[in-house]
Amino acid sequence: MPEGAPRFRASLDAMDTSPLEAWRDTLQELGVMGLVREPRPEAEPASAPLRRAETPSRSQPPPSTRPVPPPAARYEPPADPIGCPPPEAVLGATSLQALEQAIQGCLKCPLGPGRIRFVFGEGNPSARLMFVGEGPGRDEDLQGRPFVGKAGELLDKMIGAIGLTRAETYIANVVKCRPPDNRTPGPDEARACLGYLRRQIELIQPVVIVTLGATPLRELLGVSEGITRIRGQWRQLELGGRRIPVMPTFHPAYVLRQYTQDVRRAVWQDLKAAKDWIDRPTES
Ligand code: SF4
Repeated sequence: MPEGAPRFRASLDAMDTSPLEAWRDTLQELGVMGLVREPRPEAEPASAPLRRAETPSRSQPPPSTRPVPPPAARYEPPADPIGCPPPEAVLGATSLQALEQAIQGCLKCPLGPGRIRFVFGEGNPSARLMFVGEGPGRDEDLQGRPFVGKAGELLDKMIGAIGLTRAETYIANVVKCRPPDNRTPGPDEARACLGYLRRQIELIQPVVIVTLGATPLRELLGVSEGITRIRGQWRQLELGGRRIPVMPTFHPAYVLRQYTQDVRRAVWQDLKAAKDWIDRPTES
């Protein structure tokens, strides 16, 4: 045995006890009163016969070792008129206030139970210019108002750049409740909520709608082309016997992410086109 080995053994012996005891004392000071050992799976008895690997027959699928997850629970909206406002309550609302009253308890889609605040929309009830975004984010969900976070600040600046104030316009979203993790609302969620937005538009009767991002364009007009391709090109929404010009532009959140001169100029051009339209002399 090489020289020095006994000393090394002795120091190991000391480490086996003192640091462990110190660690135990520390844990106890922290309030941990006992440590639980995970039970080990029982070993197969040595006498158990060796099993041959089973080969699945052609007619039987191989047994899966993974647990099969249960099918996703289908969301069942409540049947009452508060959780699921009937169409006549929506179409029968003759003011924005009455509409909000009729739908603010809505739980028609899975976004409803997860919301903190219902975000109906806000602004001038007779606005000539209306903005339609996708859905509330975290700040909007907390405050119950549309476009109040960083994207909202930018939208306010964008509106100011064309010589208007936020209060002169109306701002709403495709869905009134926040999608989790700010994801895009699913088609079923958007469809469940779209009737509310359409009634809002009918009541406001804007001269022009500016859609922010791809989602409102897709849900309101069925346009599935990318926003980069289609922004700045007039579209038309037929609703309530009227044809409303629609100007698609980028969502302010996208502008914040891509804060380039080109993107900002593009948005300004789109909003300027919308403003020029509402300012044009009307035929008498
Ligand atoms: S997102 Fe719209 S449809 Fe879904 S629960 Fe909220 S208000 Fe109702």
